[in-house]
Parts: sequence; structure tokens; C-alpha cells
Amino acid sequence: MCKIYHETLQLSTKHRFELIDITSFVEEAVARSRIKNGVCIVFAPHATAAIIANEREPGLMQDIITFIKELVQPERNWRHNTIDDNAHAHIGSAIIGSERVFPVINGKLVRGTWQNIFLVEMDGPRSLRNVVVMVIGE
Ligand code: ZN
Repeated sequence: MCKIYHETLQLSTKHRFELIDITSFVEEAVARSRIKNGVCIVFAPHATAAIIANEREPGLMQDIITFIKELVQPERNWRHNTIDDNAHAHIGSAIIGSERVFPVINGKLVRGTWQNIFLVEMDGPRSLRNVVVMVIGE
């Protein structure tokens, strides 16, 4: 019998660009779901943030932010900036993606040793960012 469980994490961000580790929240949500086998969707309902899975090493976390900035060029004269000064963050969200999907096997979220789960803030600081965790399985 398939079950569906969800929780929403609410958090605030402190910087314009920031990686926020949400791994323990996601793993605890999977445990609370009591679903043994299925999938876990981690989704940020925002057009200027993204979700990634990668290593929690401070140098690498800075490197990822540096690369995202090079890619999305916050200082460029984007058209959207005439109404809202965050075109770079929309572009970053569009190319990185708003969600990641993980297998759930034997009650545990499956991820690599060097795959922590991060919310990627690209238009902070924000007083409220949501991350929806949905677990589907049995
Ligand atoms: Zn905008």
C-alpha cells in the first residue's frame, strides 16, 4: 500500500549567495515518514533558489558559489533587473533546478558519503525560504 508523507522546512538565509545544509532535516523527515522503500523528493518552491547534493567541505562550498556567480553574472545588465534586481538568481534556479530526488531503501535516504543536501540561496538574505520534503513509497 503506497503512502505519501510530506513536511515543509522553513528557514531564513543570511547572505545573497549561500549554501545551507538541510541533510539532517531531510533524513529526519524520511524517518518520521516510516516509509521503508520509495523515493524522497526535496523541492524548493522558489524561482531564485535551488537544491543540490554535494560535499560539505567549506572550500568546495565557496568554489560552488564562485562558479555559480561566474555562470549567472549578477552584475550583468539583465532585462529582468529593470523590474526586480535578481535576474541572475532566476537563471541560476532555472539551470540548477528546484528539486532533487533520492531513493529510500530500508527506511534510509540513499546518498553518497560526499552528498550532503543543500538549499542554494542566490537572492538572499530572505526571512523565509521553504523546502518541501515528500516521501512516496511503502
Ligand atoms: Zn525576479
